[in-house]
Amino acid sequence: MSYPIEQVRRDFPLLTREVNGQPLAYLDSAASAQKPQAVIEREVEFYRHGYAAVHRGIHSLSAEATQQMEAVREQAARFINAASAEEIVFVKGTTEGINLVANSYGSLLQPGDSVIITEMEHHANIVPWQMLAQARGVTLRVWPLQPDGTLDVADLPGLIDDRTRLLAITQVSNVLGTVNPLQEIITQAHAAGVKVLVDGAQAVMHQQVDVQALDCDFYVFSGHKLYGPSGIGILYGKAALLQQMPPWEGGGSMIQQVSLTQGTTYAEAPWRFEAGSPNTAGIMGLGAALNYVSQLGLAQIQQYEQALMQYAQEALQQVPQLRIYGPAQRAGVIAFNLGDHHAYDVGSFLDQYGIAIRTGHHCAMPLMAFYQVPSMCRASLAMYNTREEVDRLVAGLQRIQRLLG
Ligand SMILES: *Cc1c(COP(=O)(O)O)cnc(C)c1O
Repeated sequence: MSYPIEQVRRDFPLLTREVNGQPLAYLDSAASAQKPQAVIEREVEFYRHGYAAVHRGIHSLSAEATQQMEAVREQAARFINAASAEEIVFVKGTTEGINLVANSYGSLLQPGDSVIITEMEHHANIVPWQMLAQARGVTLRVWPLQPDGTLDVADLPGLIDDRTRLLAITQVSNVLGTVNPLQEIITQAHAAGVKVLVDGAQAVMHQQVDVQALDCDFYVFSGHKLYGPSGIGILYGKAALLQQMPPWEGGGSMIQQVSLTQGTTYAEAPWRFEAGSPNTAGIMGLGAALNYVSQLGLAQIQQYEQALMQYAQEALQQVPQLRIYGPAQRAGVIAFNLGDHHAYDVGSFLDQYGIAIRTGHHCAMPLMAFYQVPSMCRASLAMYNTREEVDRLVAGLQRIQRLLG
């Protein structure tokens, strides 16, 4: 079956709008993806017809909303092939998921223990570990990049000693598109007794993820990059680990018994990590997004996107003085700079033609430092992008070359 690109584009109402009098070419989905009608409608329908507080009321509406929320937990478990829904924690997004692990699992670490991150991480997978290092005397080690933007797996043993507790690593770089060989990395880490947290924010929309096959200990992703709502995401943790971990935020919904004289006992995981009223409409919308991509199938989406990426990489060769960063084997994004032009100038110029790309440090300042540039341009390719949009990007860059030299 050929990929139904026309139908997919029709499913995303925003893609039909104009920007600066031009049809929109939305090439910024790695920052945040657009939403299909099914996601928008699910949220509206929940507010219009099914809304109530969850986990509290005995009345039918509340029970129904609770049951629907828990159904999305099960759906999310199936989506990444978790062993059970109890391994799925609802969080605001990738950032909150990593902070939860750094605060909760991190509180079990001792001074002198170490955590490893890589030089290609998003700030969300750097700063929480720096804060933990400061607060608890934990050592932070950095796995350095090679010039082509990949990691050398042979470097890993040298970073691990008997006090190393955790490796926090992205599956796909949000700047370079590098796909890290996680299977091999996780096997090596586990052989040395090191737990692994995977930042899946740039991976779950491009390929099927199977946390049991990967055998990672934690996996985090955001709904809004997976065509779902913003303000909702998933933290997966192996049941045995989550059960050992203390809560990180206190409040309603995460307790068993609260007494002013005898103290408080906590709920089981995952509810222990979900203090307060959750983003219920976001959870419903996330369920619709998981349905949407699952119906099309990630294998099919991946195949379409990879062909488009191949096309884009070849087409961009036609732009003189374009420097592309990262390996040729990439997923989702292409980062580049055009001659000496600042990324912001390139981005503003393209915007005049309705072409939306991302410019700046991409929340990866250490990676900018590695390449010794202040900023980069980044074009994202998502399930709804086309060759025609790539052609417009190429033409826009050629126009900048002609006009500005
Ligand atoms: C976007 C992104 C994050 C942060 O996600 P939020 O949705 O902003 O919490 C973390 N890591 C990577 C690789 C990302 O692309």
